[in-house]
Amino acid sequence: MSVVTVSNFAKRYGSSTIFTDISFTLRSGEFVTLLGPSGCGKSTLLRCISGLTGVDQGTISVDGSDITHTAPQKRGIGMVFQSYALFPNMTAAQNIAFGLKMQKLTAAEIADKVAAVVKLVELDGREQQYPHQLSGGQRQRVALARALVVEPRILLLDEPLSALDARIRKTLREQIRDIQRRLGLTTIFVTHDQEEALTLSDRIFVMNQGRVEQEGSAETVYTQPATEFVARFMGSYNLLTAAQSQSLLGITPRGHLTLRPEAMELLTSPETDTLPAVIKSHQLLGNVIRYQVDCQGVALSVDCLNRSAEALLADGAAVFLRIARDTLREVQ
Ligand code: ADP
Ligand code: MG
Repeated sequence: MSVVTVSNFAKRYGSSTIFTDISFTLRSGEFVTLLGPSGCGKSTLLRCISGLTGVDQGTISVDGSDITHTAPQKRGIGMVFQSYALFPNMTAAQNIAFGLKMQKLTAAEIADKVAAVVKLVELDGREQQYPHQLSGGQRQRVALARALVVEPRILLLDEPLSALDARIRKTLREQIRDIQRRLGLTTIFVTHDQEEALTLSDRIFVMNQGRVEQEGSAETVYTQPATEFVARFMGSYNLLTAAQSQSLLGITPRGHLTLRPEAMELLTSPETDTLPAVIKSHQLLGNVIRYQVDCQGVALSVDCLNRSAEALLADGAAVFLRIARDTLREVQ
């Protein structure tokens, strides 16, 4: 269980500034996700934390001791990358044992530790296979085992699921979270996938161009985006301009007004506080149907639970839209 404090981290590559002033503290055993678009600096920040890349300014400490100038292999940090980075000519067990060999443990100690971690990541029976004989998900579990076997104080995961297909991705993310909880490992997970971030995290840092735009629980970041960027990045938000907000709702925000697709209701007859609208198209997302509607010239996405085929509203149908006003938020 470790507390990590990053203070005033800054990093440049030549003339380009990657980030200038990043500070945060991770609580012991916390699972934090860095979420942001490609190129915003997530991997660079993770590499600076691990020590694989040096920082130009700032400090990092773990449990109160400064490790800013400590070599990467002495930081007690385990790292897993998107590309598994396994040794192709070594078996799964040899890959996992690699870090322990470096520590010069005895063969018996190594065998014990490898066996325990193989069980933890559910790779039993695969120990003697080479990376090319393993599936993507199994290879990533070898990489995870290799990071865990040295009993790190902190686990860093850089888009570890991005190369895997959707079904494996979901299973493995649950598994990673479960292992992390059981070990009480302070963890930073990097992803550009908001669903992944929302599902897994104790806390999410939304990054944009080298800045942390918002930091908060999954619930907070999703329902109370602090900026227009966060609202757009979290997915399906409707963002109304000041003019659109004024015409639909009689509100004039300074920037945009956010309106979540699930914070609206479609009715087939008018009621108080409903607005006439027309269904333009619809998309089946499984348990939810996402309608594109036109409401007084404003295009909106509206999500409705997919209750039954009979309840489906046809394209072109005239409907009445109710907006949950208490969910509206101004963002800039
Ligand atoms: P992310 O992981 O969020 O996609 P990165 O941290 O990989 O973003 O990259 C952030 C920025 O830093 C990008 O503009 C990238 O081109 C640049 N960058 C990353 N690594 C290097 C490097 N070794 N040399 C120069 N520029 C780099
Ligand atoms: Mg990256």
